[in-house]
Amino acid sequence: MRAFFTAICIGLEGCDRMTPNTGLGNFERKTKLGVHTQSEFRIEGVVMDTVVESKATLKTPAYAAKSAKSPLAPFTIERRTPRPHDVLIDILYCGVCHSDIHQARDEWGGSIFPMVPGHEIIGKVVDVGTHVSKWKKGDIVGVGCFVDSDRTCDACRAGEEQLCEGGMTLTYNGYERDGKTPTYGGYSTRITVDENYMLRIPKGIPLERAAPLLCAGITTYSPLKHFGLKPGNKVAVVGLGGLGHMGVKFGHALGAHVTVLSHSPGKRRDALKLGADDFIATKDEDIFIENAARFDFILDTVSAKHDYNAYLNLLHYDGIMVLVGVPEEPSPLSAPSLIMKRRTLAGSLIGGIRETQEMLDFCAQHGVAADVEVISIDKINEAYERMLKGDVRYRFVIDLASLK
Ligand code: NAP
Ligand code: ZN
Repeated sequence: MRAFFTAICIGLEGCDRMTPNTGLGNFERKTKLGVHTQSEFRIEGVVMDTVVESKATLKTPAYAAKSAKSPLAPFTIERRTPRPHDVLIDILYCGVCHSDIHQARDEWGGSIFPMVPGHEIIGKVVDVGTHVSKWKKGDIVGVGCFVDSDRTCDACRAGEEQLCEGGMTLTYNGYERDGKTPTYGGYSTRITVDENYMLRIPKGIPLERAAPLLCAGITTYSPLKHFGLKPGNKVAVVGLGGLGHMGVKFGHALGAHVTVLSHSPGKRRDALKLGADDFIATKDEDIFIENAARFDFILDTVSAKHDYNAYLNLLHYDGIMVLVGVPEEPSPLSAPSLIMKRRTLAGSLIGGIRETQEMLDFCAQHGVAADVEVISIDKINEAYERMLKGDVRYRFVIDLASLK
C-alpha cells in the first residue's frame, strides 16, 4: 500500500497528504504561481476526476476598518484566483447598509478585524474557473450577504441558505468554510465567489440602483412574500431608510395599502412619492392611540432601540409584525401586546439565492429599484455619519471606479 501512495505522489513536489484508494484525496504542490491543491476523486484506485485548485492570490485594493474605533481607510487584501467552481468579479458598485456600520463598529459583538464591509455588490465577470457552467466573462452579476453555506442541511436543500444550520458564510465579517480564512466584502475592486452564490442582474435596472436590492431589497421582499401580504392589506413600514424605502416600493407593487411610520416628519413627501398611501410621524405619542388596531401587517426596519409593544398595539386582531431591523440593544416585550388580539411577532433574515433571484426579476418586471446617492469611496466615513442622522435618500452606493 505504501508503494501505491508513493507512486501517486511522484512528480508532486511538496505532496503532504496520502490519498485513499476510494474517495477524495488532496495534496499540495508549489509552483512559480503559488501553492496548488490537487484533488483526485478515486473509485477503487481509478482517478475519476482531477481538479487543481490554485492558492495564488490577487492583490486587491479595498477600504477597511482596522478596529471598532477606527474610521475606514485604504487597505490591500488578497483574493483567491478562481478555483474550478469560482468566478472572479470586478466590482462596479456596492451599497452601504446600516449593518455595515453595526459590524464595523462592533455593535453586535464578535466583529473580525480588519474588516472590509459591503454586501450589496454589483460587478462584471472577468474570469471563470474550469468547471463553471452558470456564468461567462462579461456577465453582470450580484453578490449579497453570504458567499457559501454547508449545502447539505435542510435549510440549504430548501433553498434557504441564509438559515443554513451549519451557518452561512458571510460575505464579510466571517470565515470561509475552512473556518480560518477571513471573508472581505464589497468595499474593494474585485471578489472571487462560488458560482452557486451569485445572482443574475436582469436587464433594465440601472446598476447602481440594483446594488441595494442584494440586501435591502431581499430583506424587505422576503417577509412580505413569506408571511403572505395580500393585495388590499393595510401594511405599515416603520422607518424610512434603506430597507424601509424598499419595503414601501414592494408593498405598493404587491397591491397593499402602505403607510409609513417615521420619526422624521420631513420624510412625508418622499414617502408618498415612493408609493406610500399614508404617512404618520411617530414623534407625537397620540398617534399610537389614534391608530390602534389599524394594520394587518407591520414591517419594522428600525436600526435603533424602540418600544415594540407600542407598534404591536397598532395591529388588528391576527395581525403580524415582522422585525428586520437589528438594534444594538434588546427591548422588553409585554405578553398582552400579543395575547389580547392573537397577534404574531416574527423576524426575518435576508433571503435565499432562489428568492433573491425571484426578487430581482420581480423588480425588472415592475420597474422597482432603489433610490440612491452614488459616492466615491473616500466619502464612506462621512456617509456613515450621514446615515446615522437619517440624512440619506435612501441608500448610499459606492462607485468602485473611485478605488484604484
Ligand atoms: P437606515 O438606512 O439607517 O434606516 C434605518 C431607519 O430607522 C432610519 O432611516 C430611521 O427612519 C429609523 N430610525 C433610525 N434611528 C431611529 C430611532 N432612534 N428611533 C426611531 N427610528 C429610527 O438602515 P437600513 O440599512 O435600512 O437598516 C435598518 C436595520 O435593518 C439595521 O439595524 C440593519 O442592521 C438591519 N438589517 C437587517 C437585515 C435582516 O436580514 N434582517 C438585513 C439588512 C439590514 P425614520 O427617519 O423614517 O424614522
Ligand atoms: Zn445589509
